[in-house]
Amino acid sequence: MGGLITPRLRETYPPNGMLVATMNPCPCGSQGDPSKECTCSALQIQRYRARISGPLLDRIDIQVGVPVVRYKELATITDSESSGTIRDRVDRARQMQLQRFHGRKIYCNAQMAARDLKKFCTTEPAAEQLLERAMVKLGLSARAYTRILKVAIASCRITGTSFCGPSVTGTCKPSCTA
Ligand SMILES: [Zn+2]
Repeated sequence: MGGLITPRLRETYPPNGMLVATMNPCPCGSQGDPSKECTCSALQIQRYRARISGPLLDRIDIQVGVPVVRYKELATITDSESSGTIRDRVDRARQMQLQRFHGRKIYCNAQMAARDLKKFCTTEPAAEQLLERAMVKLGLSARAYTRILKVAIASCRITGTSFCGPSVTGTCKPSCTA
């Protein structure tokens, strides 16, 4: 049984943890904010982002840009979805995963091997072409390819749709068969 070991603290963490992390877009934190001017040079931003290595980024399943929220938007938030409702939806998706992988040694989408993806997620030709173009243009790895499909399947389950459209994945349009 493996695990993540921190020699200095002499602690061992379980191998199946979930990493959630945040970072600013640049050293001053204002890049992309229409109300503030970013004071960083291109080189500073490049160096700042290079602190997170490419191979590490390649292992993070979901990366989301979060725009600045204005005071007016914060002050006028009314009926947003409750955490309980969201939790119920995630629970349902988890139950579907457990049923899908019943009798196997895996229990969630992230653990699927390439052969599982072929079984549970068939990609339309047009979507496959789009994904292929994205892989070439963005220099995506094989790991990124499988990650996109896994995240697409998870998104379909959470949103309760049986078909993953381009808005779900941003780059591919697979249809899930399980
Ligand atoms: Zn900046």
